[in-house]
Amino acid sequence: PVRVRFCPSPTGNPHVGLVRTALFNWAFARHNKGRSGTLVFRIEDTDAARDSEESYEQLLDAMRWLGFDWDEGPEVGGPHAPYRQSQRMDIYADVARRLQEAGYAYECFCTTEELDARRDAARAAGKPSGYDGHCRDLTAEQIEAYRREGRTAIVRFRMPDHPITFTDLVRGDITVTPENVPDYGIVRANGAPLYTLVNPVDDALMEITHVLRGEDLLSSTPRQIALYAALAEIGVGNGTTPEFGHLPYVMGEGNKKLSKRDPQSSLNLYRERGFLPEGLLNYLSLLGWSLSEDRDIFSMDEMVAAFDIKDVVANPARFDLKKCEAINAAHIRLLDVKDFITACAPWLKAPFAPWSPEAFDQEAFEALAPHAQTRLTVLSEITAGVDFLFLDEPVEDEVSWQKAMKEGSDALLRSVRGKFAEAEWNAGTLKEAVLAAGEEHGLKLGKAQAPVRVAVTGRTVGLPLFESLEVLGRDRTLARLDAALA
Ligand code: GLU
Repeated sequence: PVRVRFCPSPTGNPHVGLVRTALFNWAFARHNKGRSGTLVFRIEDTDAARDSEESYEQLLDAMRWLGFDWDEGPEVGGPHAPYRQSQRMDIYADVARRLQEAGYAYECFCTTEELDARRDAARAAGKPSGYDGHCRDLTAEQIEAYRREGRTAIVRFRMPDHPITFTDLVRGDITVTPENVPDYGIVRANGAPLYTLVNPVDDALMEITHVLRGEDLLSSTPRQIALYAALAEIGVGNGTTPEFGHLPYVMGEGNKKLSKRDPQSSLNLYRERGFLPEGLLNYLSLLGWSLSEDRDIFSMDEMVAAFDIKDVVANPARFDLKKCEAINAAHIRLLDVKDFITACAPWLKAPFAPWSPEAFDQEAFEALAPHAQTRLTVLSEITAGVDFLFLDEPVEDEVSWQKAMKEGSDALLRSVRGKFAEAEWNAGTLKEAVLAAGEEHGLKLGKAQAPVRVAVTGRTVGLPLFESLEVLGRDRTLARLDAALA
């Protein structure tokens, strides 16, 4: 079987790095349907100080919006429930105790000051500066003495004395020597289990076969592999160590790693701007993977059919907002027009729409929708594209007005007004009217239509003008030209 997991911690807002990890795991599980591909969604909320219920709700909401489904996890349950680590604390306490009893872990009484002092001394002497194994083999008397001093202990995992080797599914063979992986803490002095323990324990219990996660976690892999071996010895899980694949870093502006704190990385931003889930996911899939050299635009079904972790590349991927937008635009074009109309709905009402709900006219919007669908990059642009239809007056925009209204614009507008008053009311004839008025004033169509557009919509750019005027109707168009001329 293939069992993968997506196991975020509910801290802060969901970000694109997290979404990419979810996507690759989901695609891998779905691609391996024939091998009972299973996606486990687990919530790693053991850090009470940082985790929040709000963030948990946001994660679930984000997963649904993106269109992911999971086979085990919150809301769907499963054979390894519960899937929130905060509800599994007794399991971790039990495993930590058994690891200590079997000698795979031990109590460490060193204080932070002592650790710091010894680390500094080791550094000064040019020696490895990780934990030095001070408490590895304390006698019962020493432990007793420390306790009498009032010291508390963390639990540390005892790393084996041999190198750890594994084959990363993305990076190939990796070997780490013991000096580079010192014994590490798995339970805090207050009894709280750490990520270093709970993550591999649950992977073992939930029988995870493949761990696909970000490169930032590569350094914890040798430790986790050693821990899996110990868990197998004490009978936790089914005794297999998963295979690991570390997804490449995503680089942001200035070639720095895209961080959670980067505004560009917030998923909410993309939702608010009106990215389609399929557009955003298509783009994120390209951060480390590709369908083929000559195809950037594809559906999630196509990704699932083709996805193999072995095709993921190790090189850092650059997050390119322009490309992300272009791919989203391509997905907007691919929608059925009725789906496009439905997708626009949120931006046609409060809090985005500046018009009153009664002013909205679905029929007028639908008449213009096909022209919007071929032009928008993100759905939120629809609001400014159609607001002239639903506002009593065009938006006021001094800069646009200055830009479009030149000397002679009045004369041109008067001529246009005259022709519009008589023209048959359709996009074709309206265009001819503006062409003719432009000719009278020695202006090409582009220059001639600019003042008309500003007079009617308030903007210098927008949806195709003549189709827009056709939908707005003669009376309102003439009234706006008159207002501009007044
Ligand atoms: N909860 C961890 C995180 O969000 C999971 C890391 C992992 O995939 O092992 O970073």
